[in-house]
Amino acid sequence: MAEMTELNNCPLCNRELAEPTVRHHLLPPSKGGRDTPTIVMHKICQNKVHAVFTETEQKNYYHTIERIREHEEVAKFIKWVSRKDPEFYDGSVKKK
Ligand SMILES: [Zn+2]
Repeated sequence: MAEMTELNNCPLCNRELAEPTVRHHLLPPSKGGRDTPTIVMHKICQNKVHAVFTETEQKNYYHTIERIREHEEVAKFIKWVSRKDPEFYDGSVKKK
């Protein structure tokens, strides 16, 4: 396996990264973010972002990790998920 050159921790929950991970567009691709940089995070963490915010909300305000983490519902999720294994993935987290 090639050495990872990216951050080894999830920018959302700060836990170690483990599969499944995804590349998250802070600016949604459908809102003009297709060619913008992505960040690697847990799939479950990205699912939470998409469950809490619409793509329009992400484009208009929640396009930084700091702002996303400040949201009450996301803060609760971070607390909850921080007690799970990095590999934990709950497929029941629904997309908006
Ligand atoms: Zn995470």
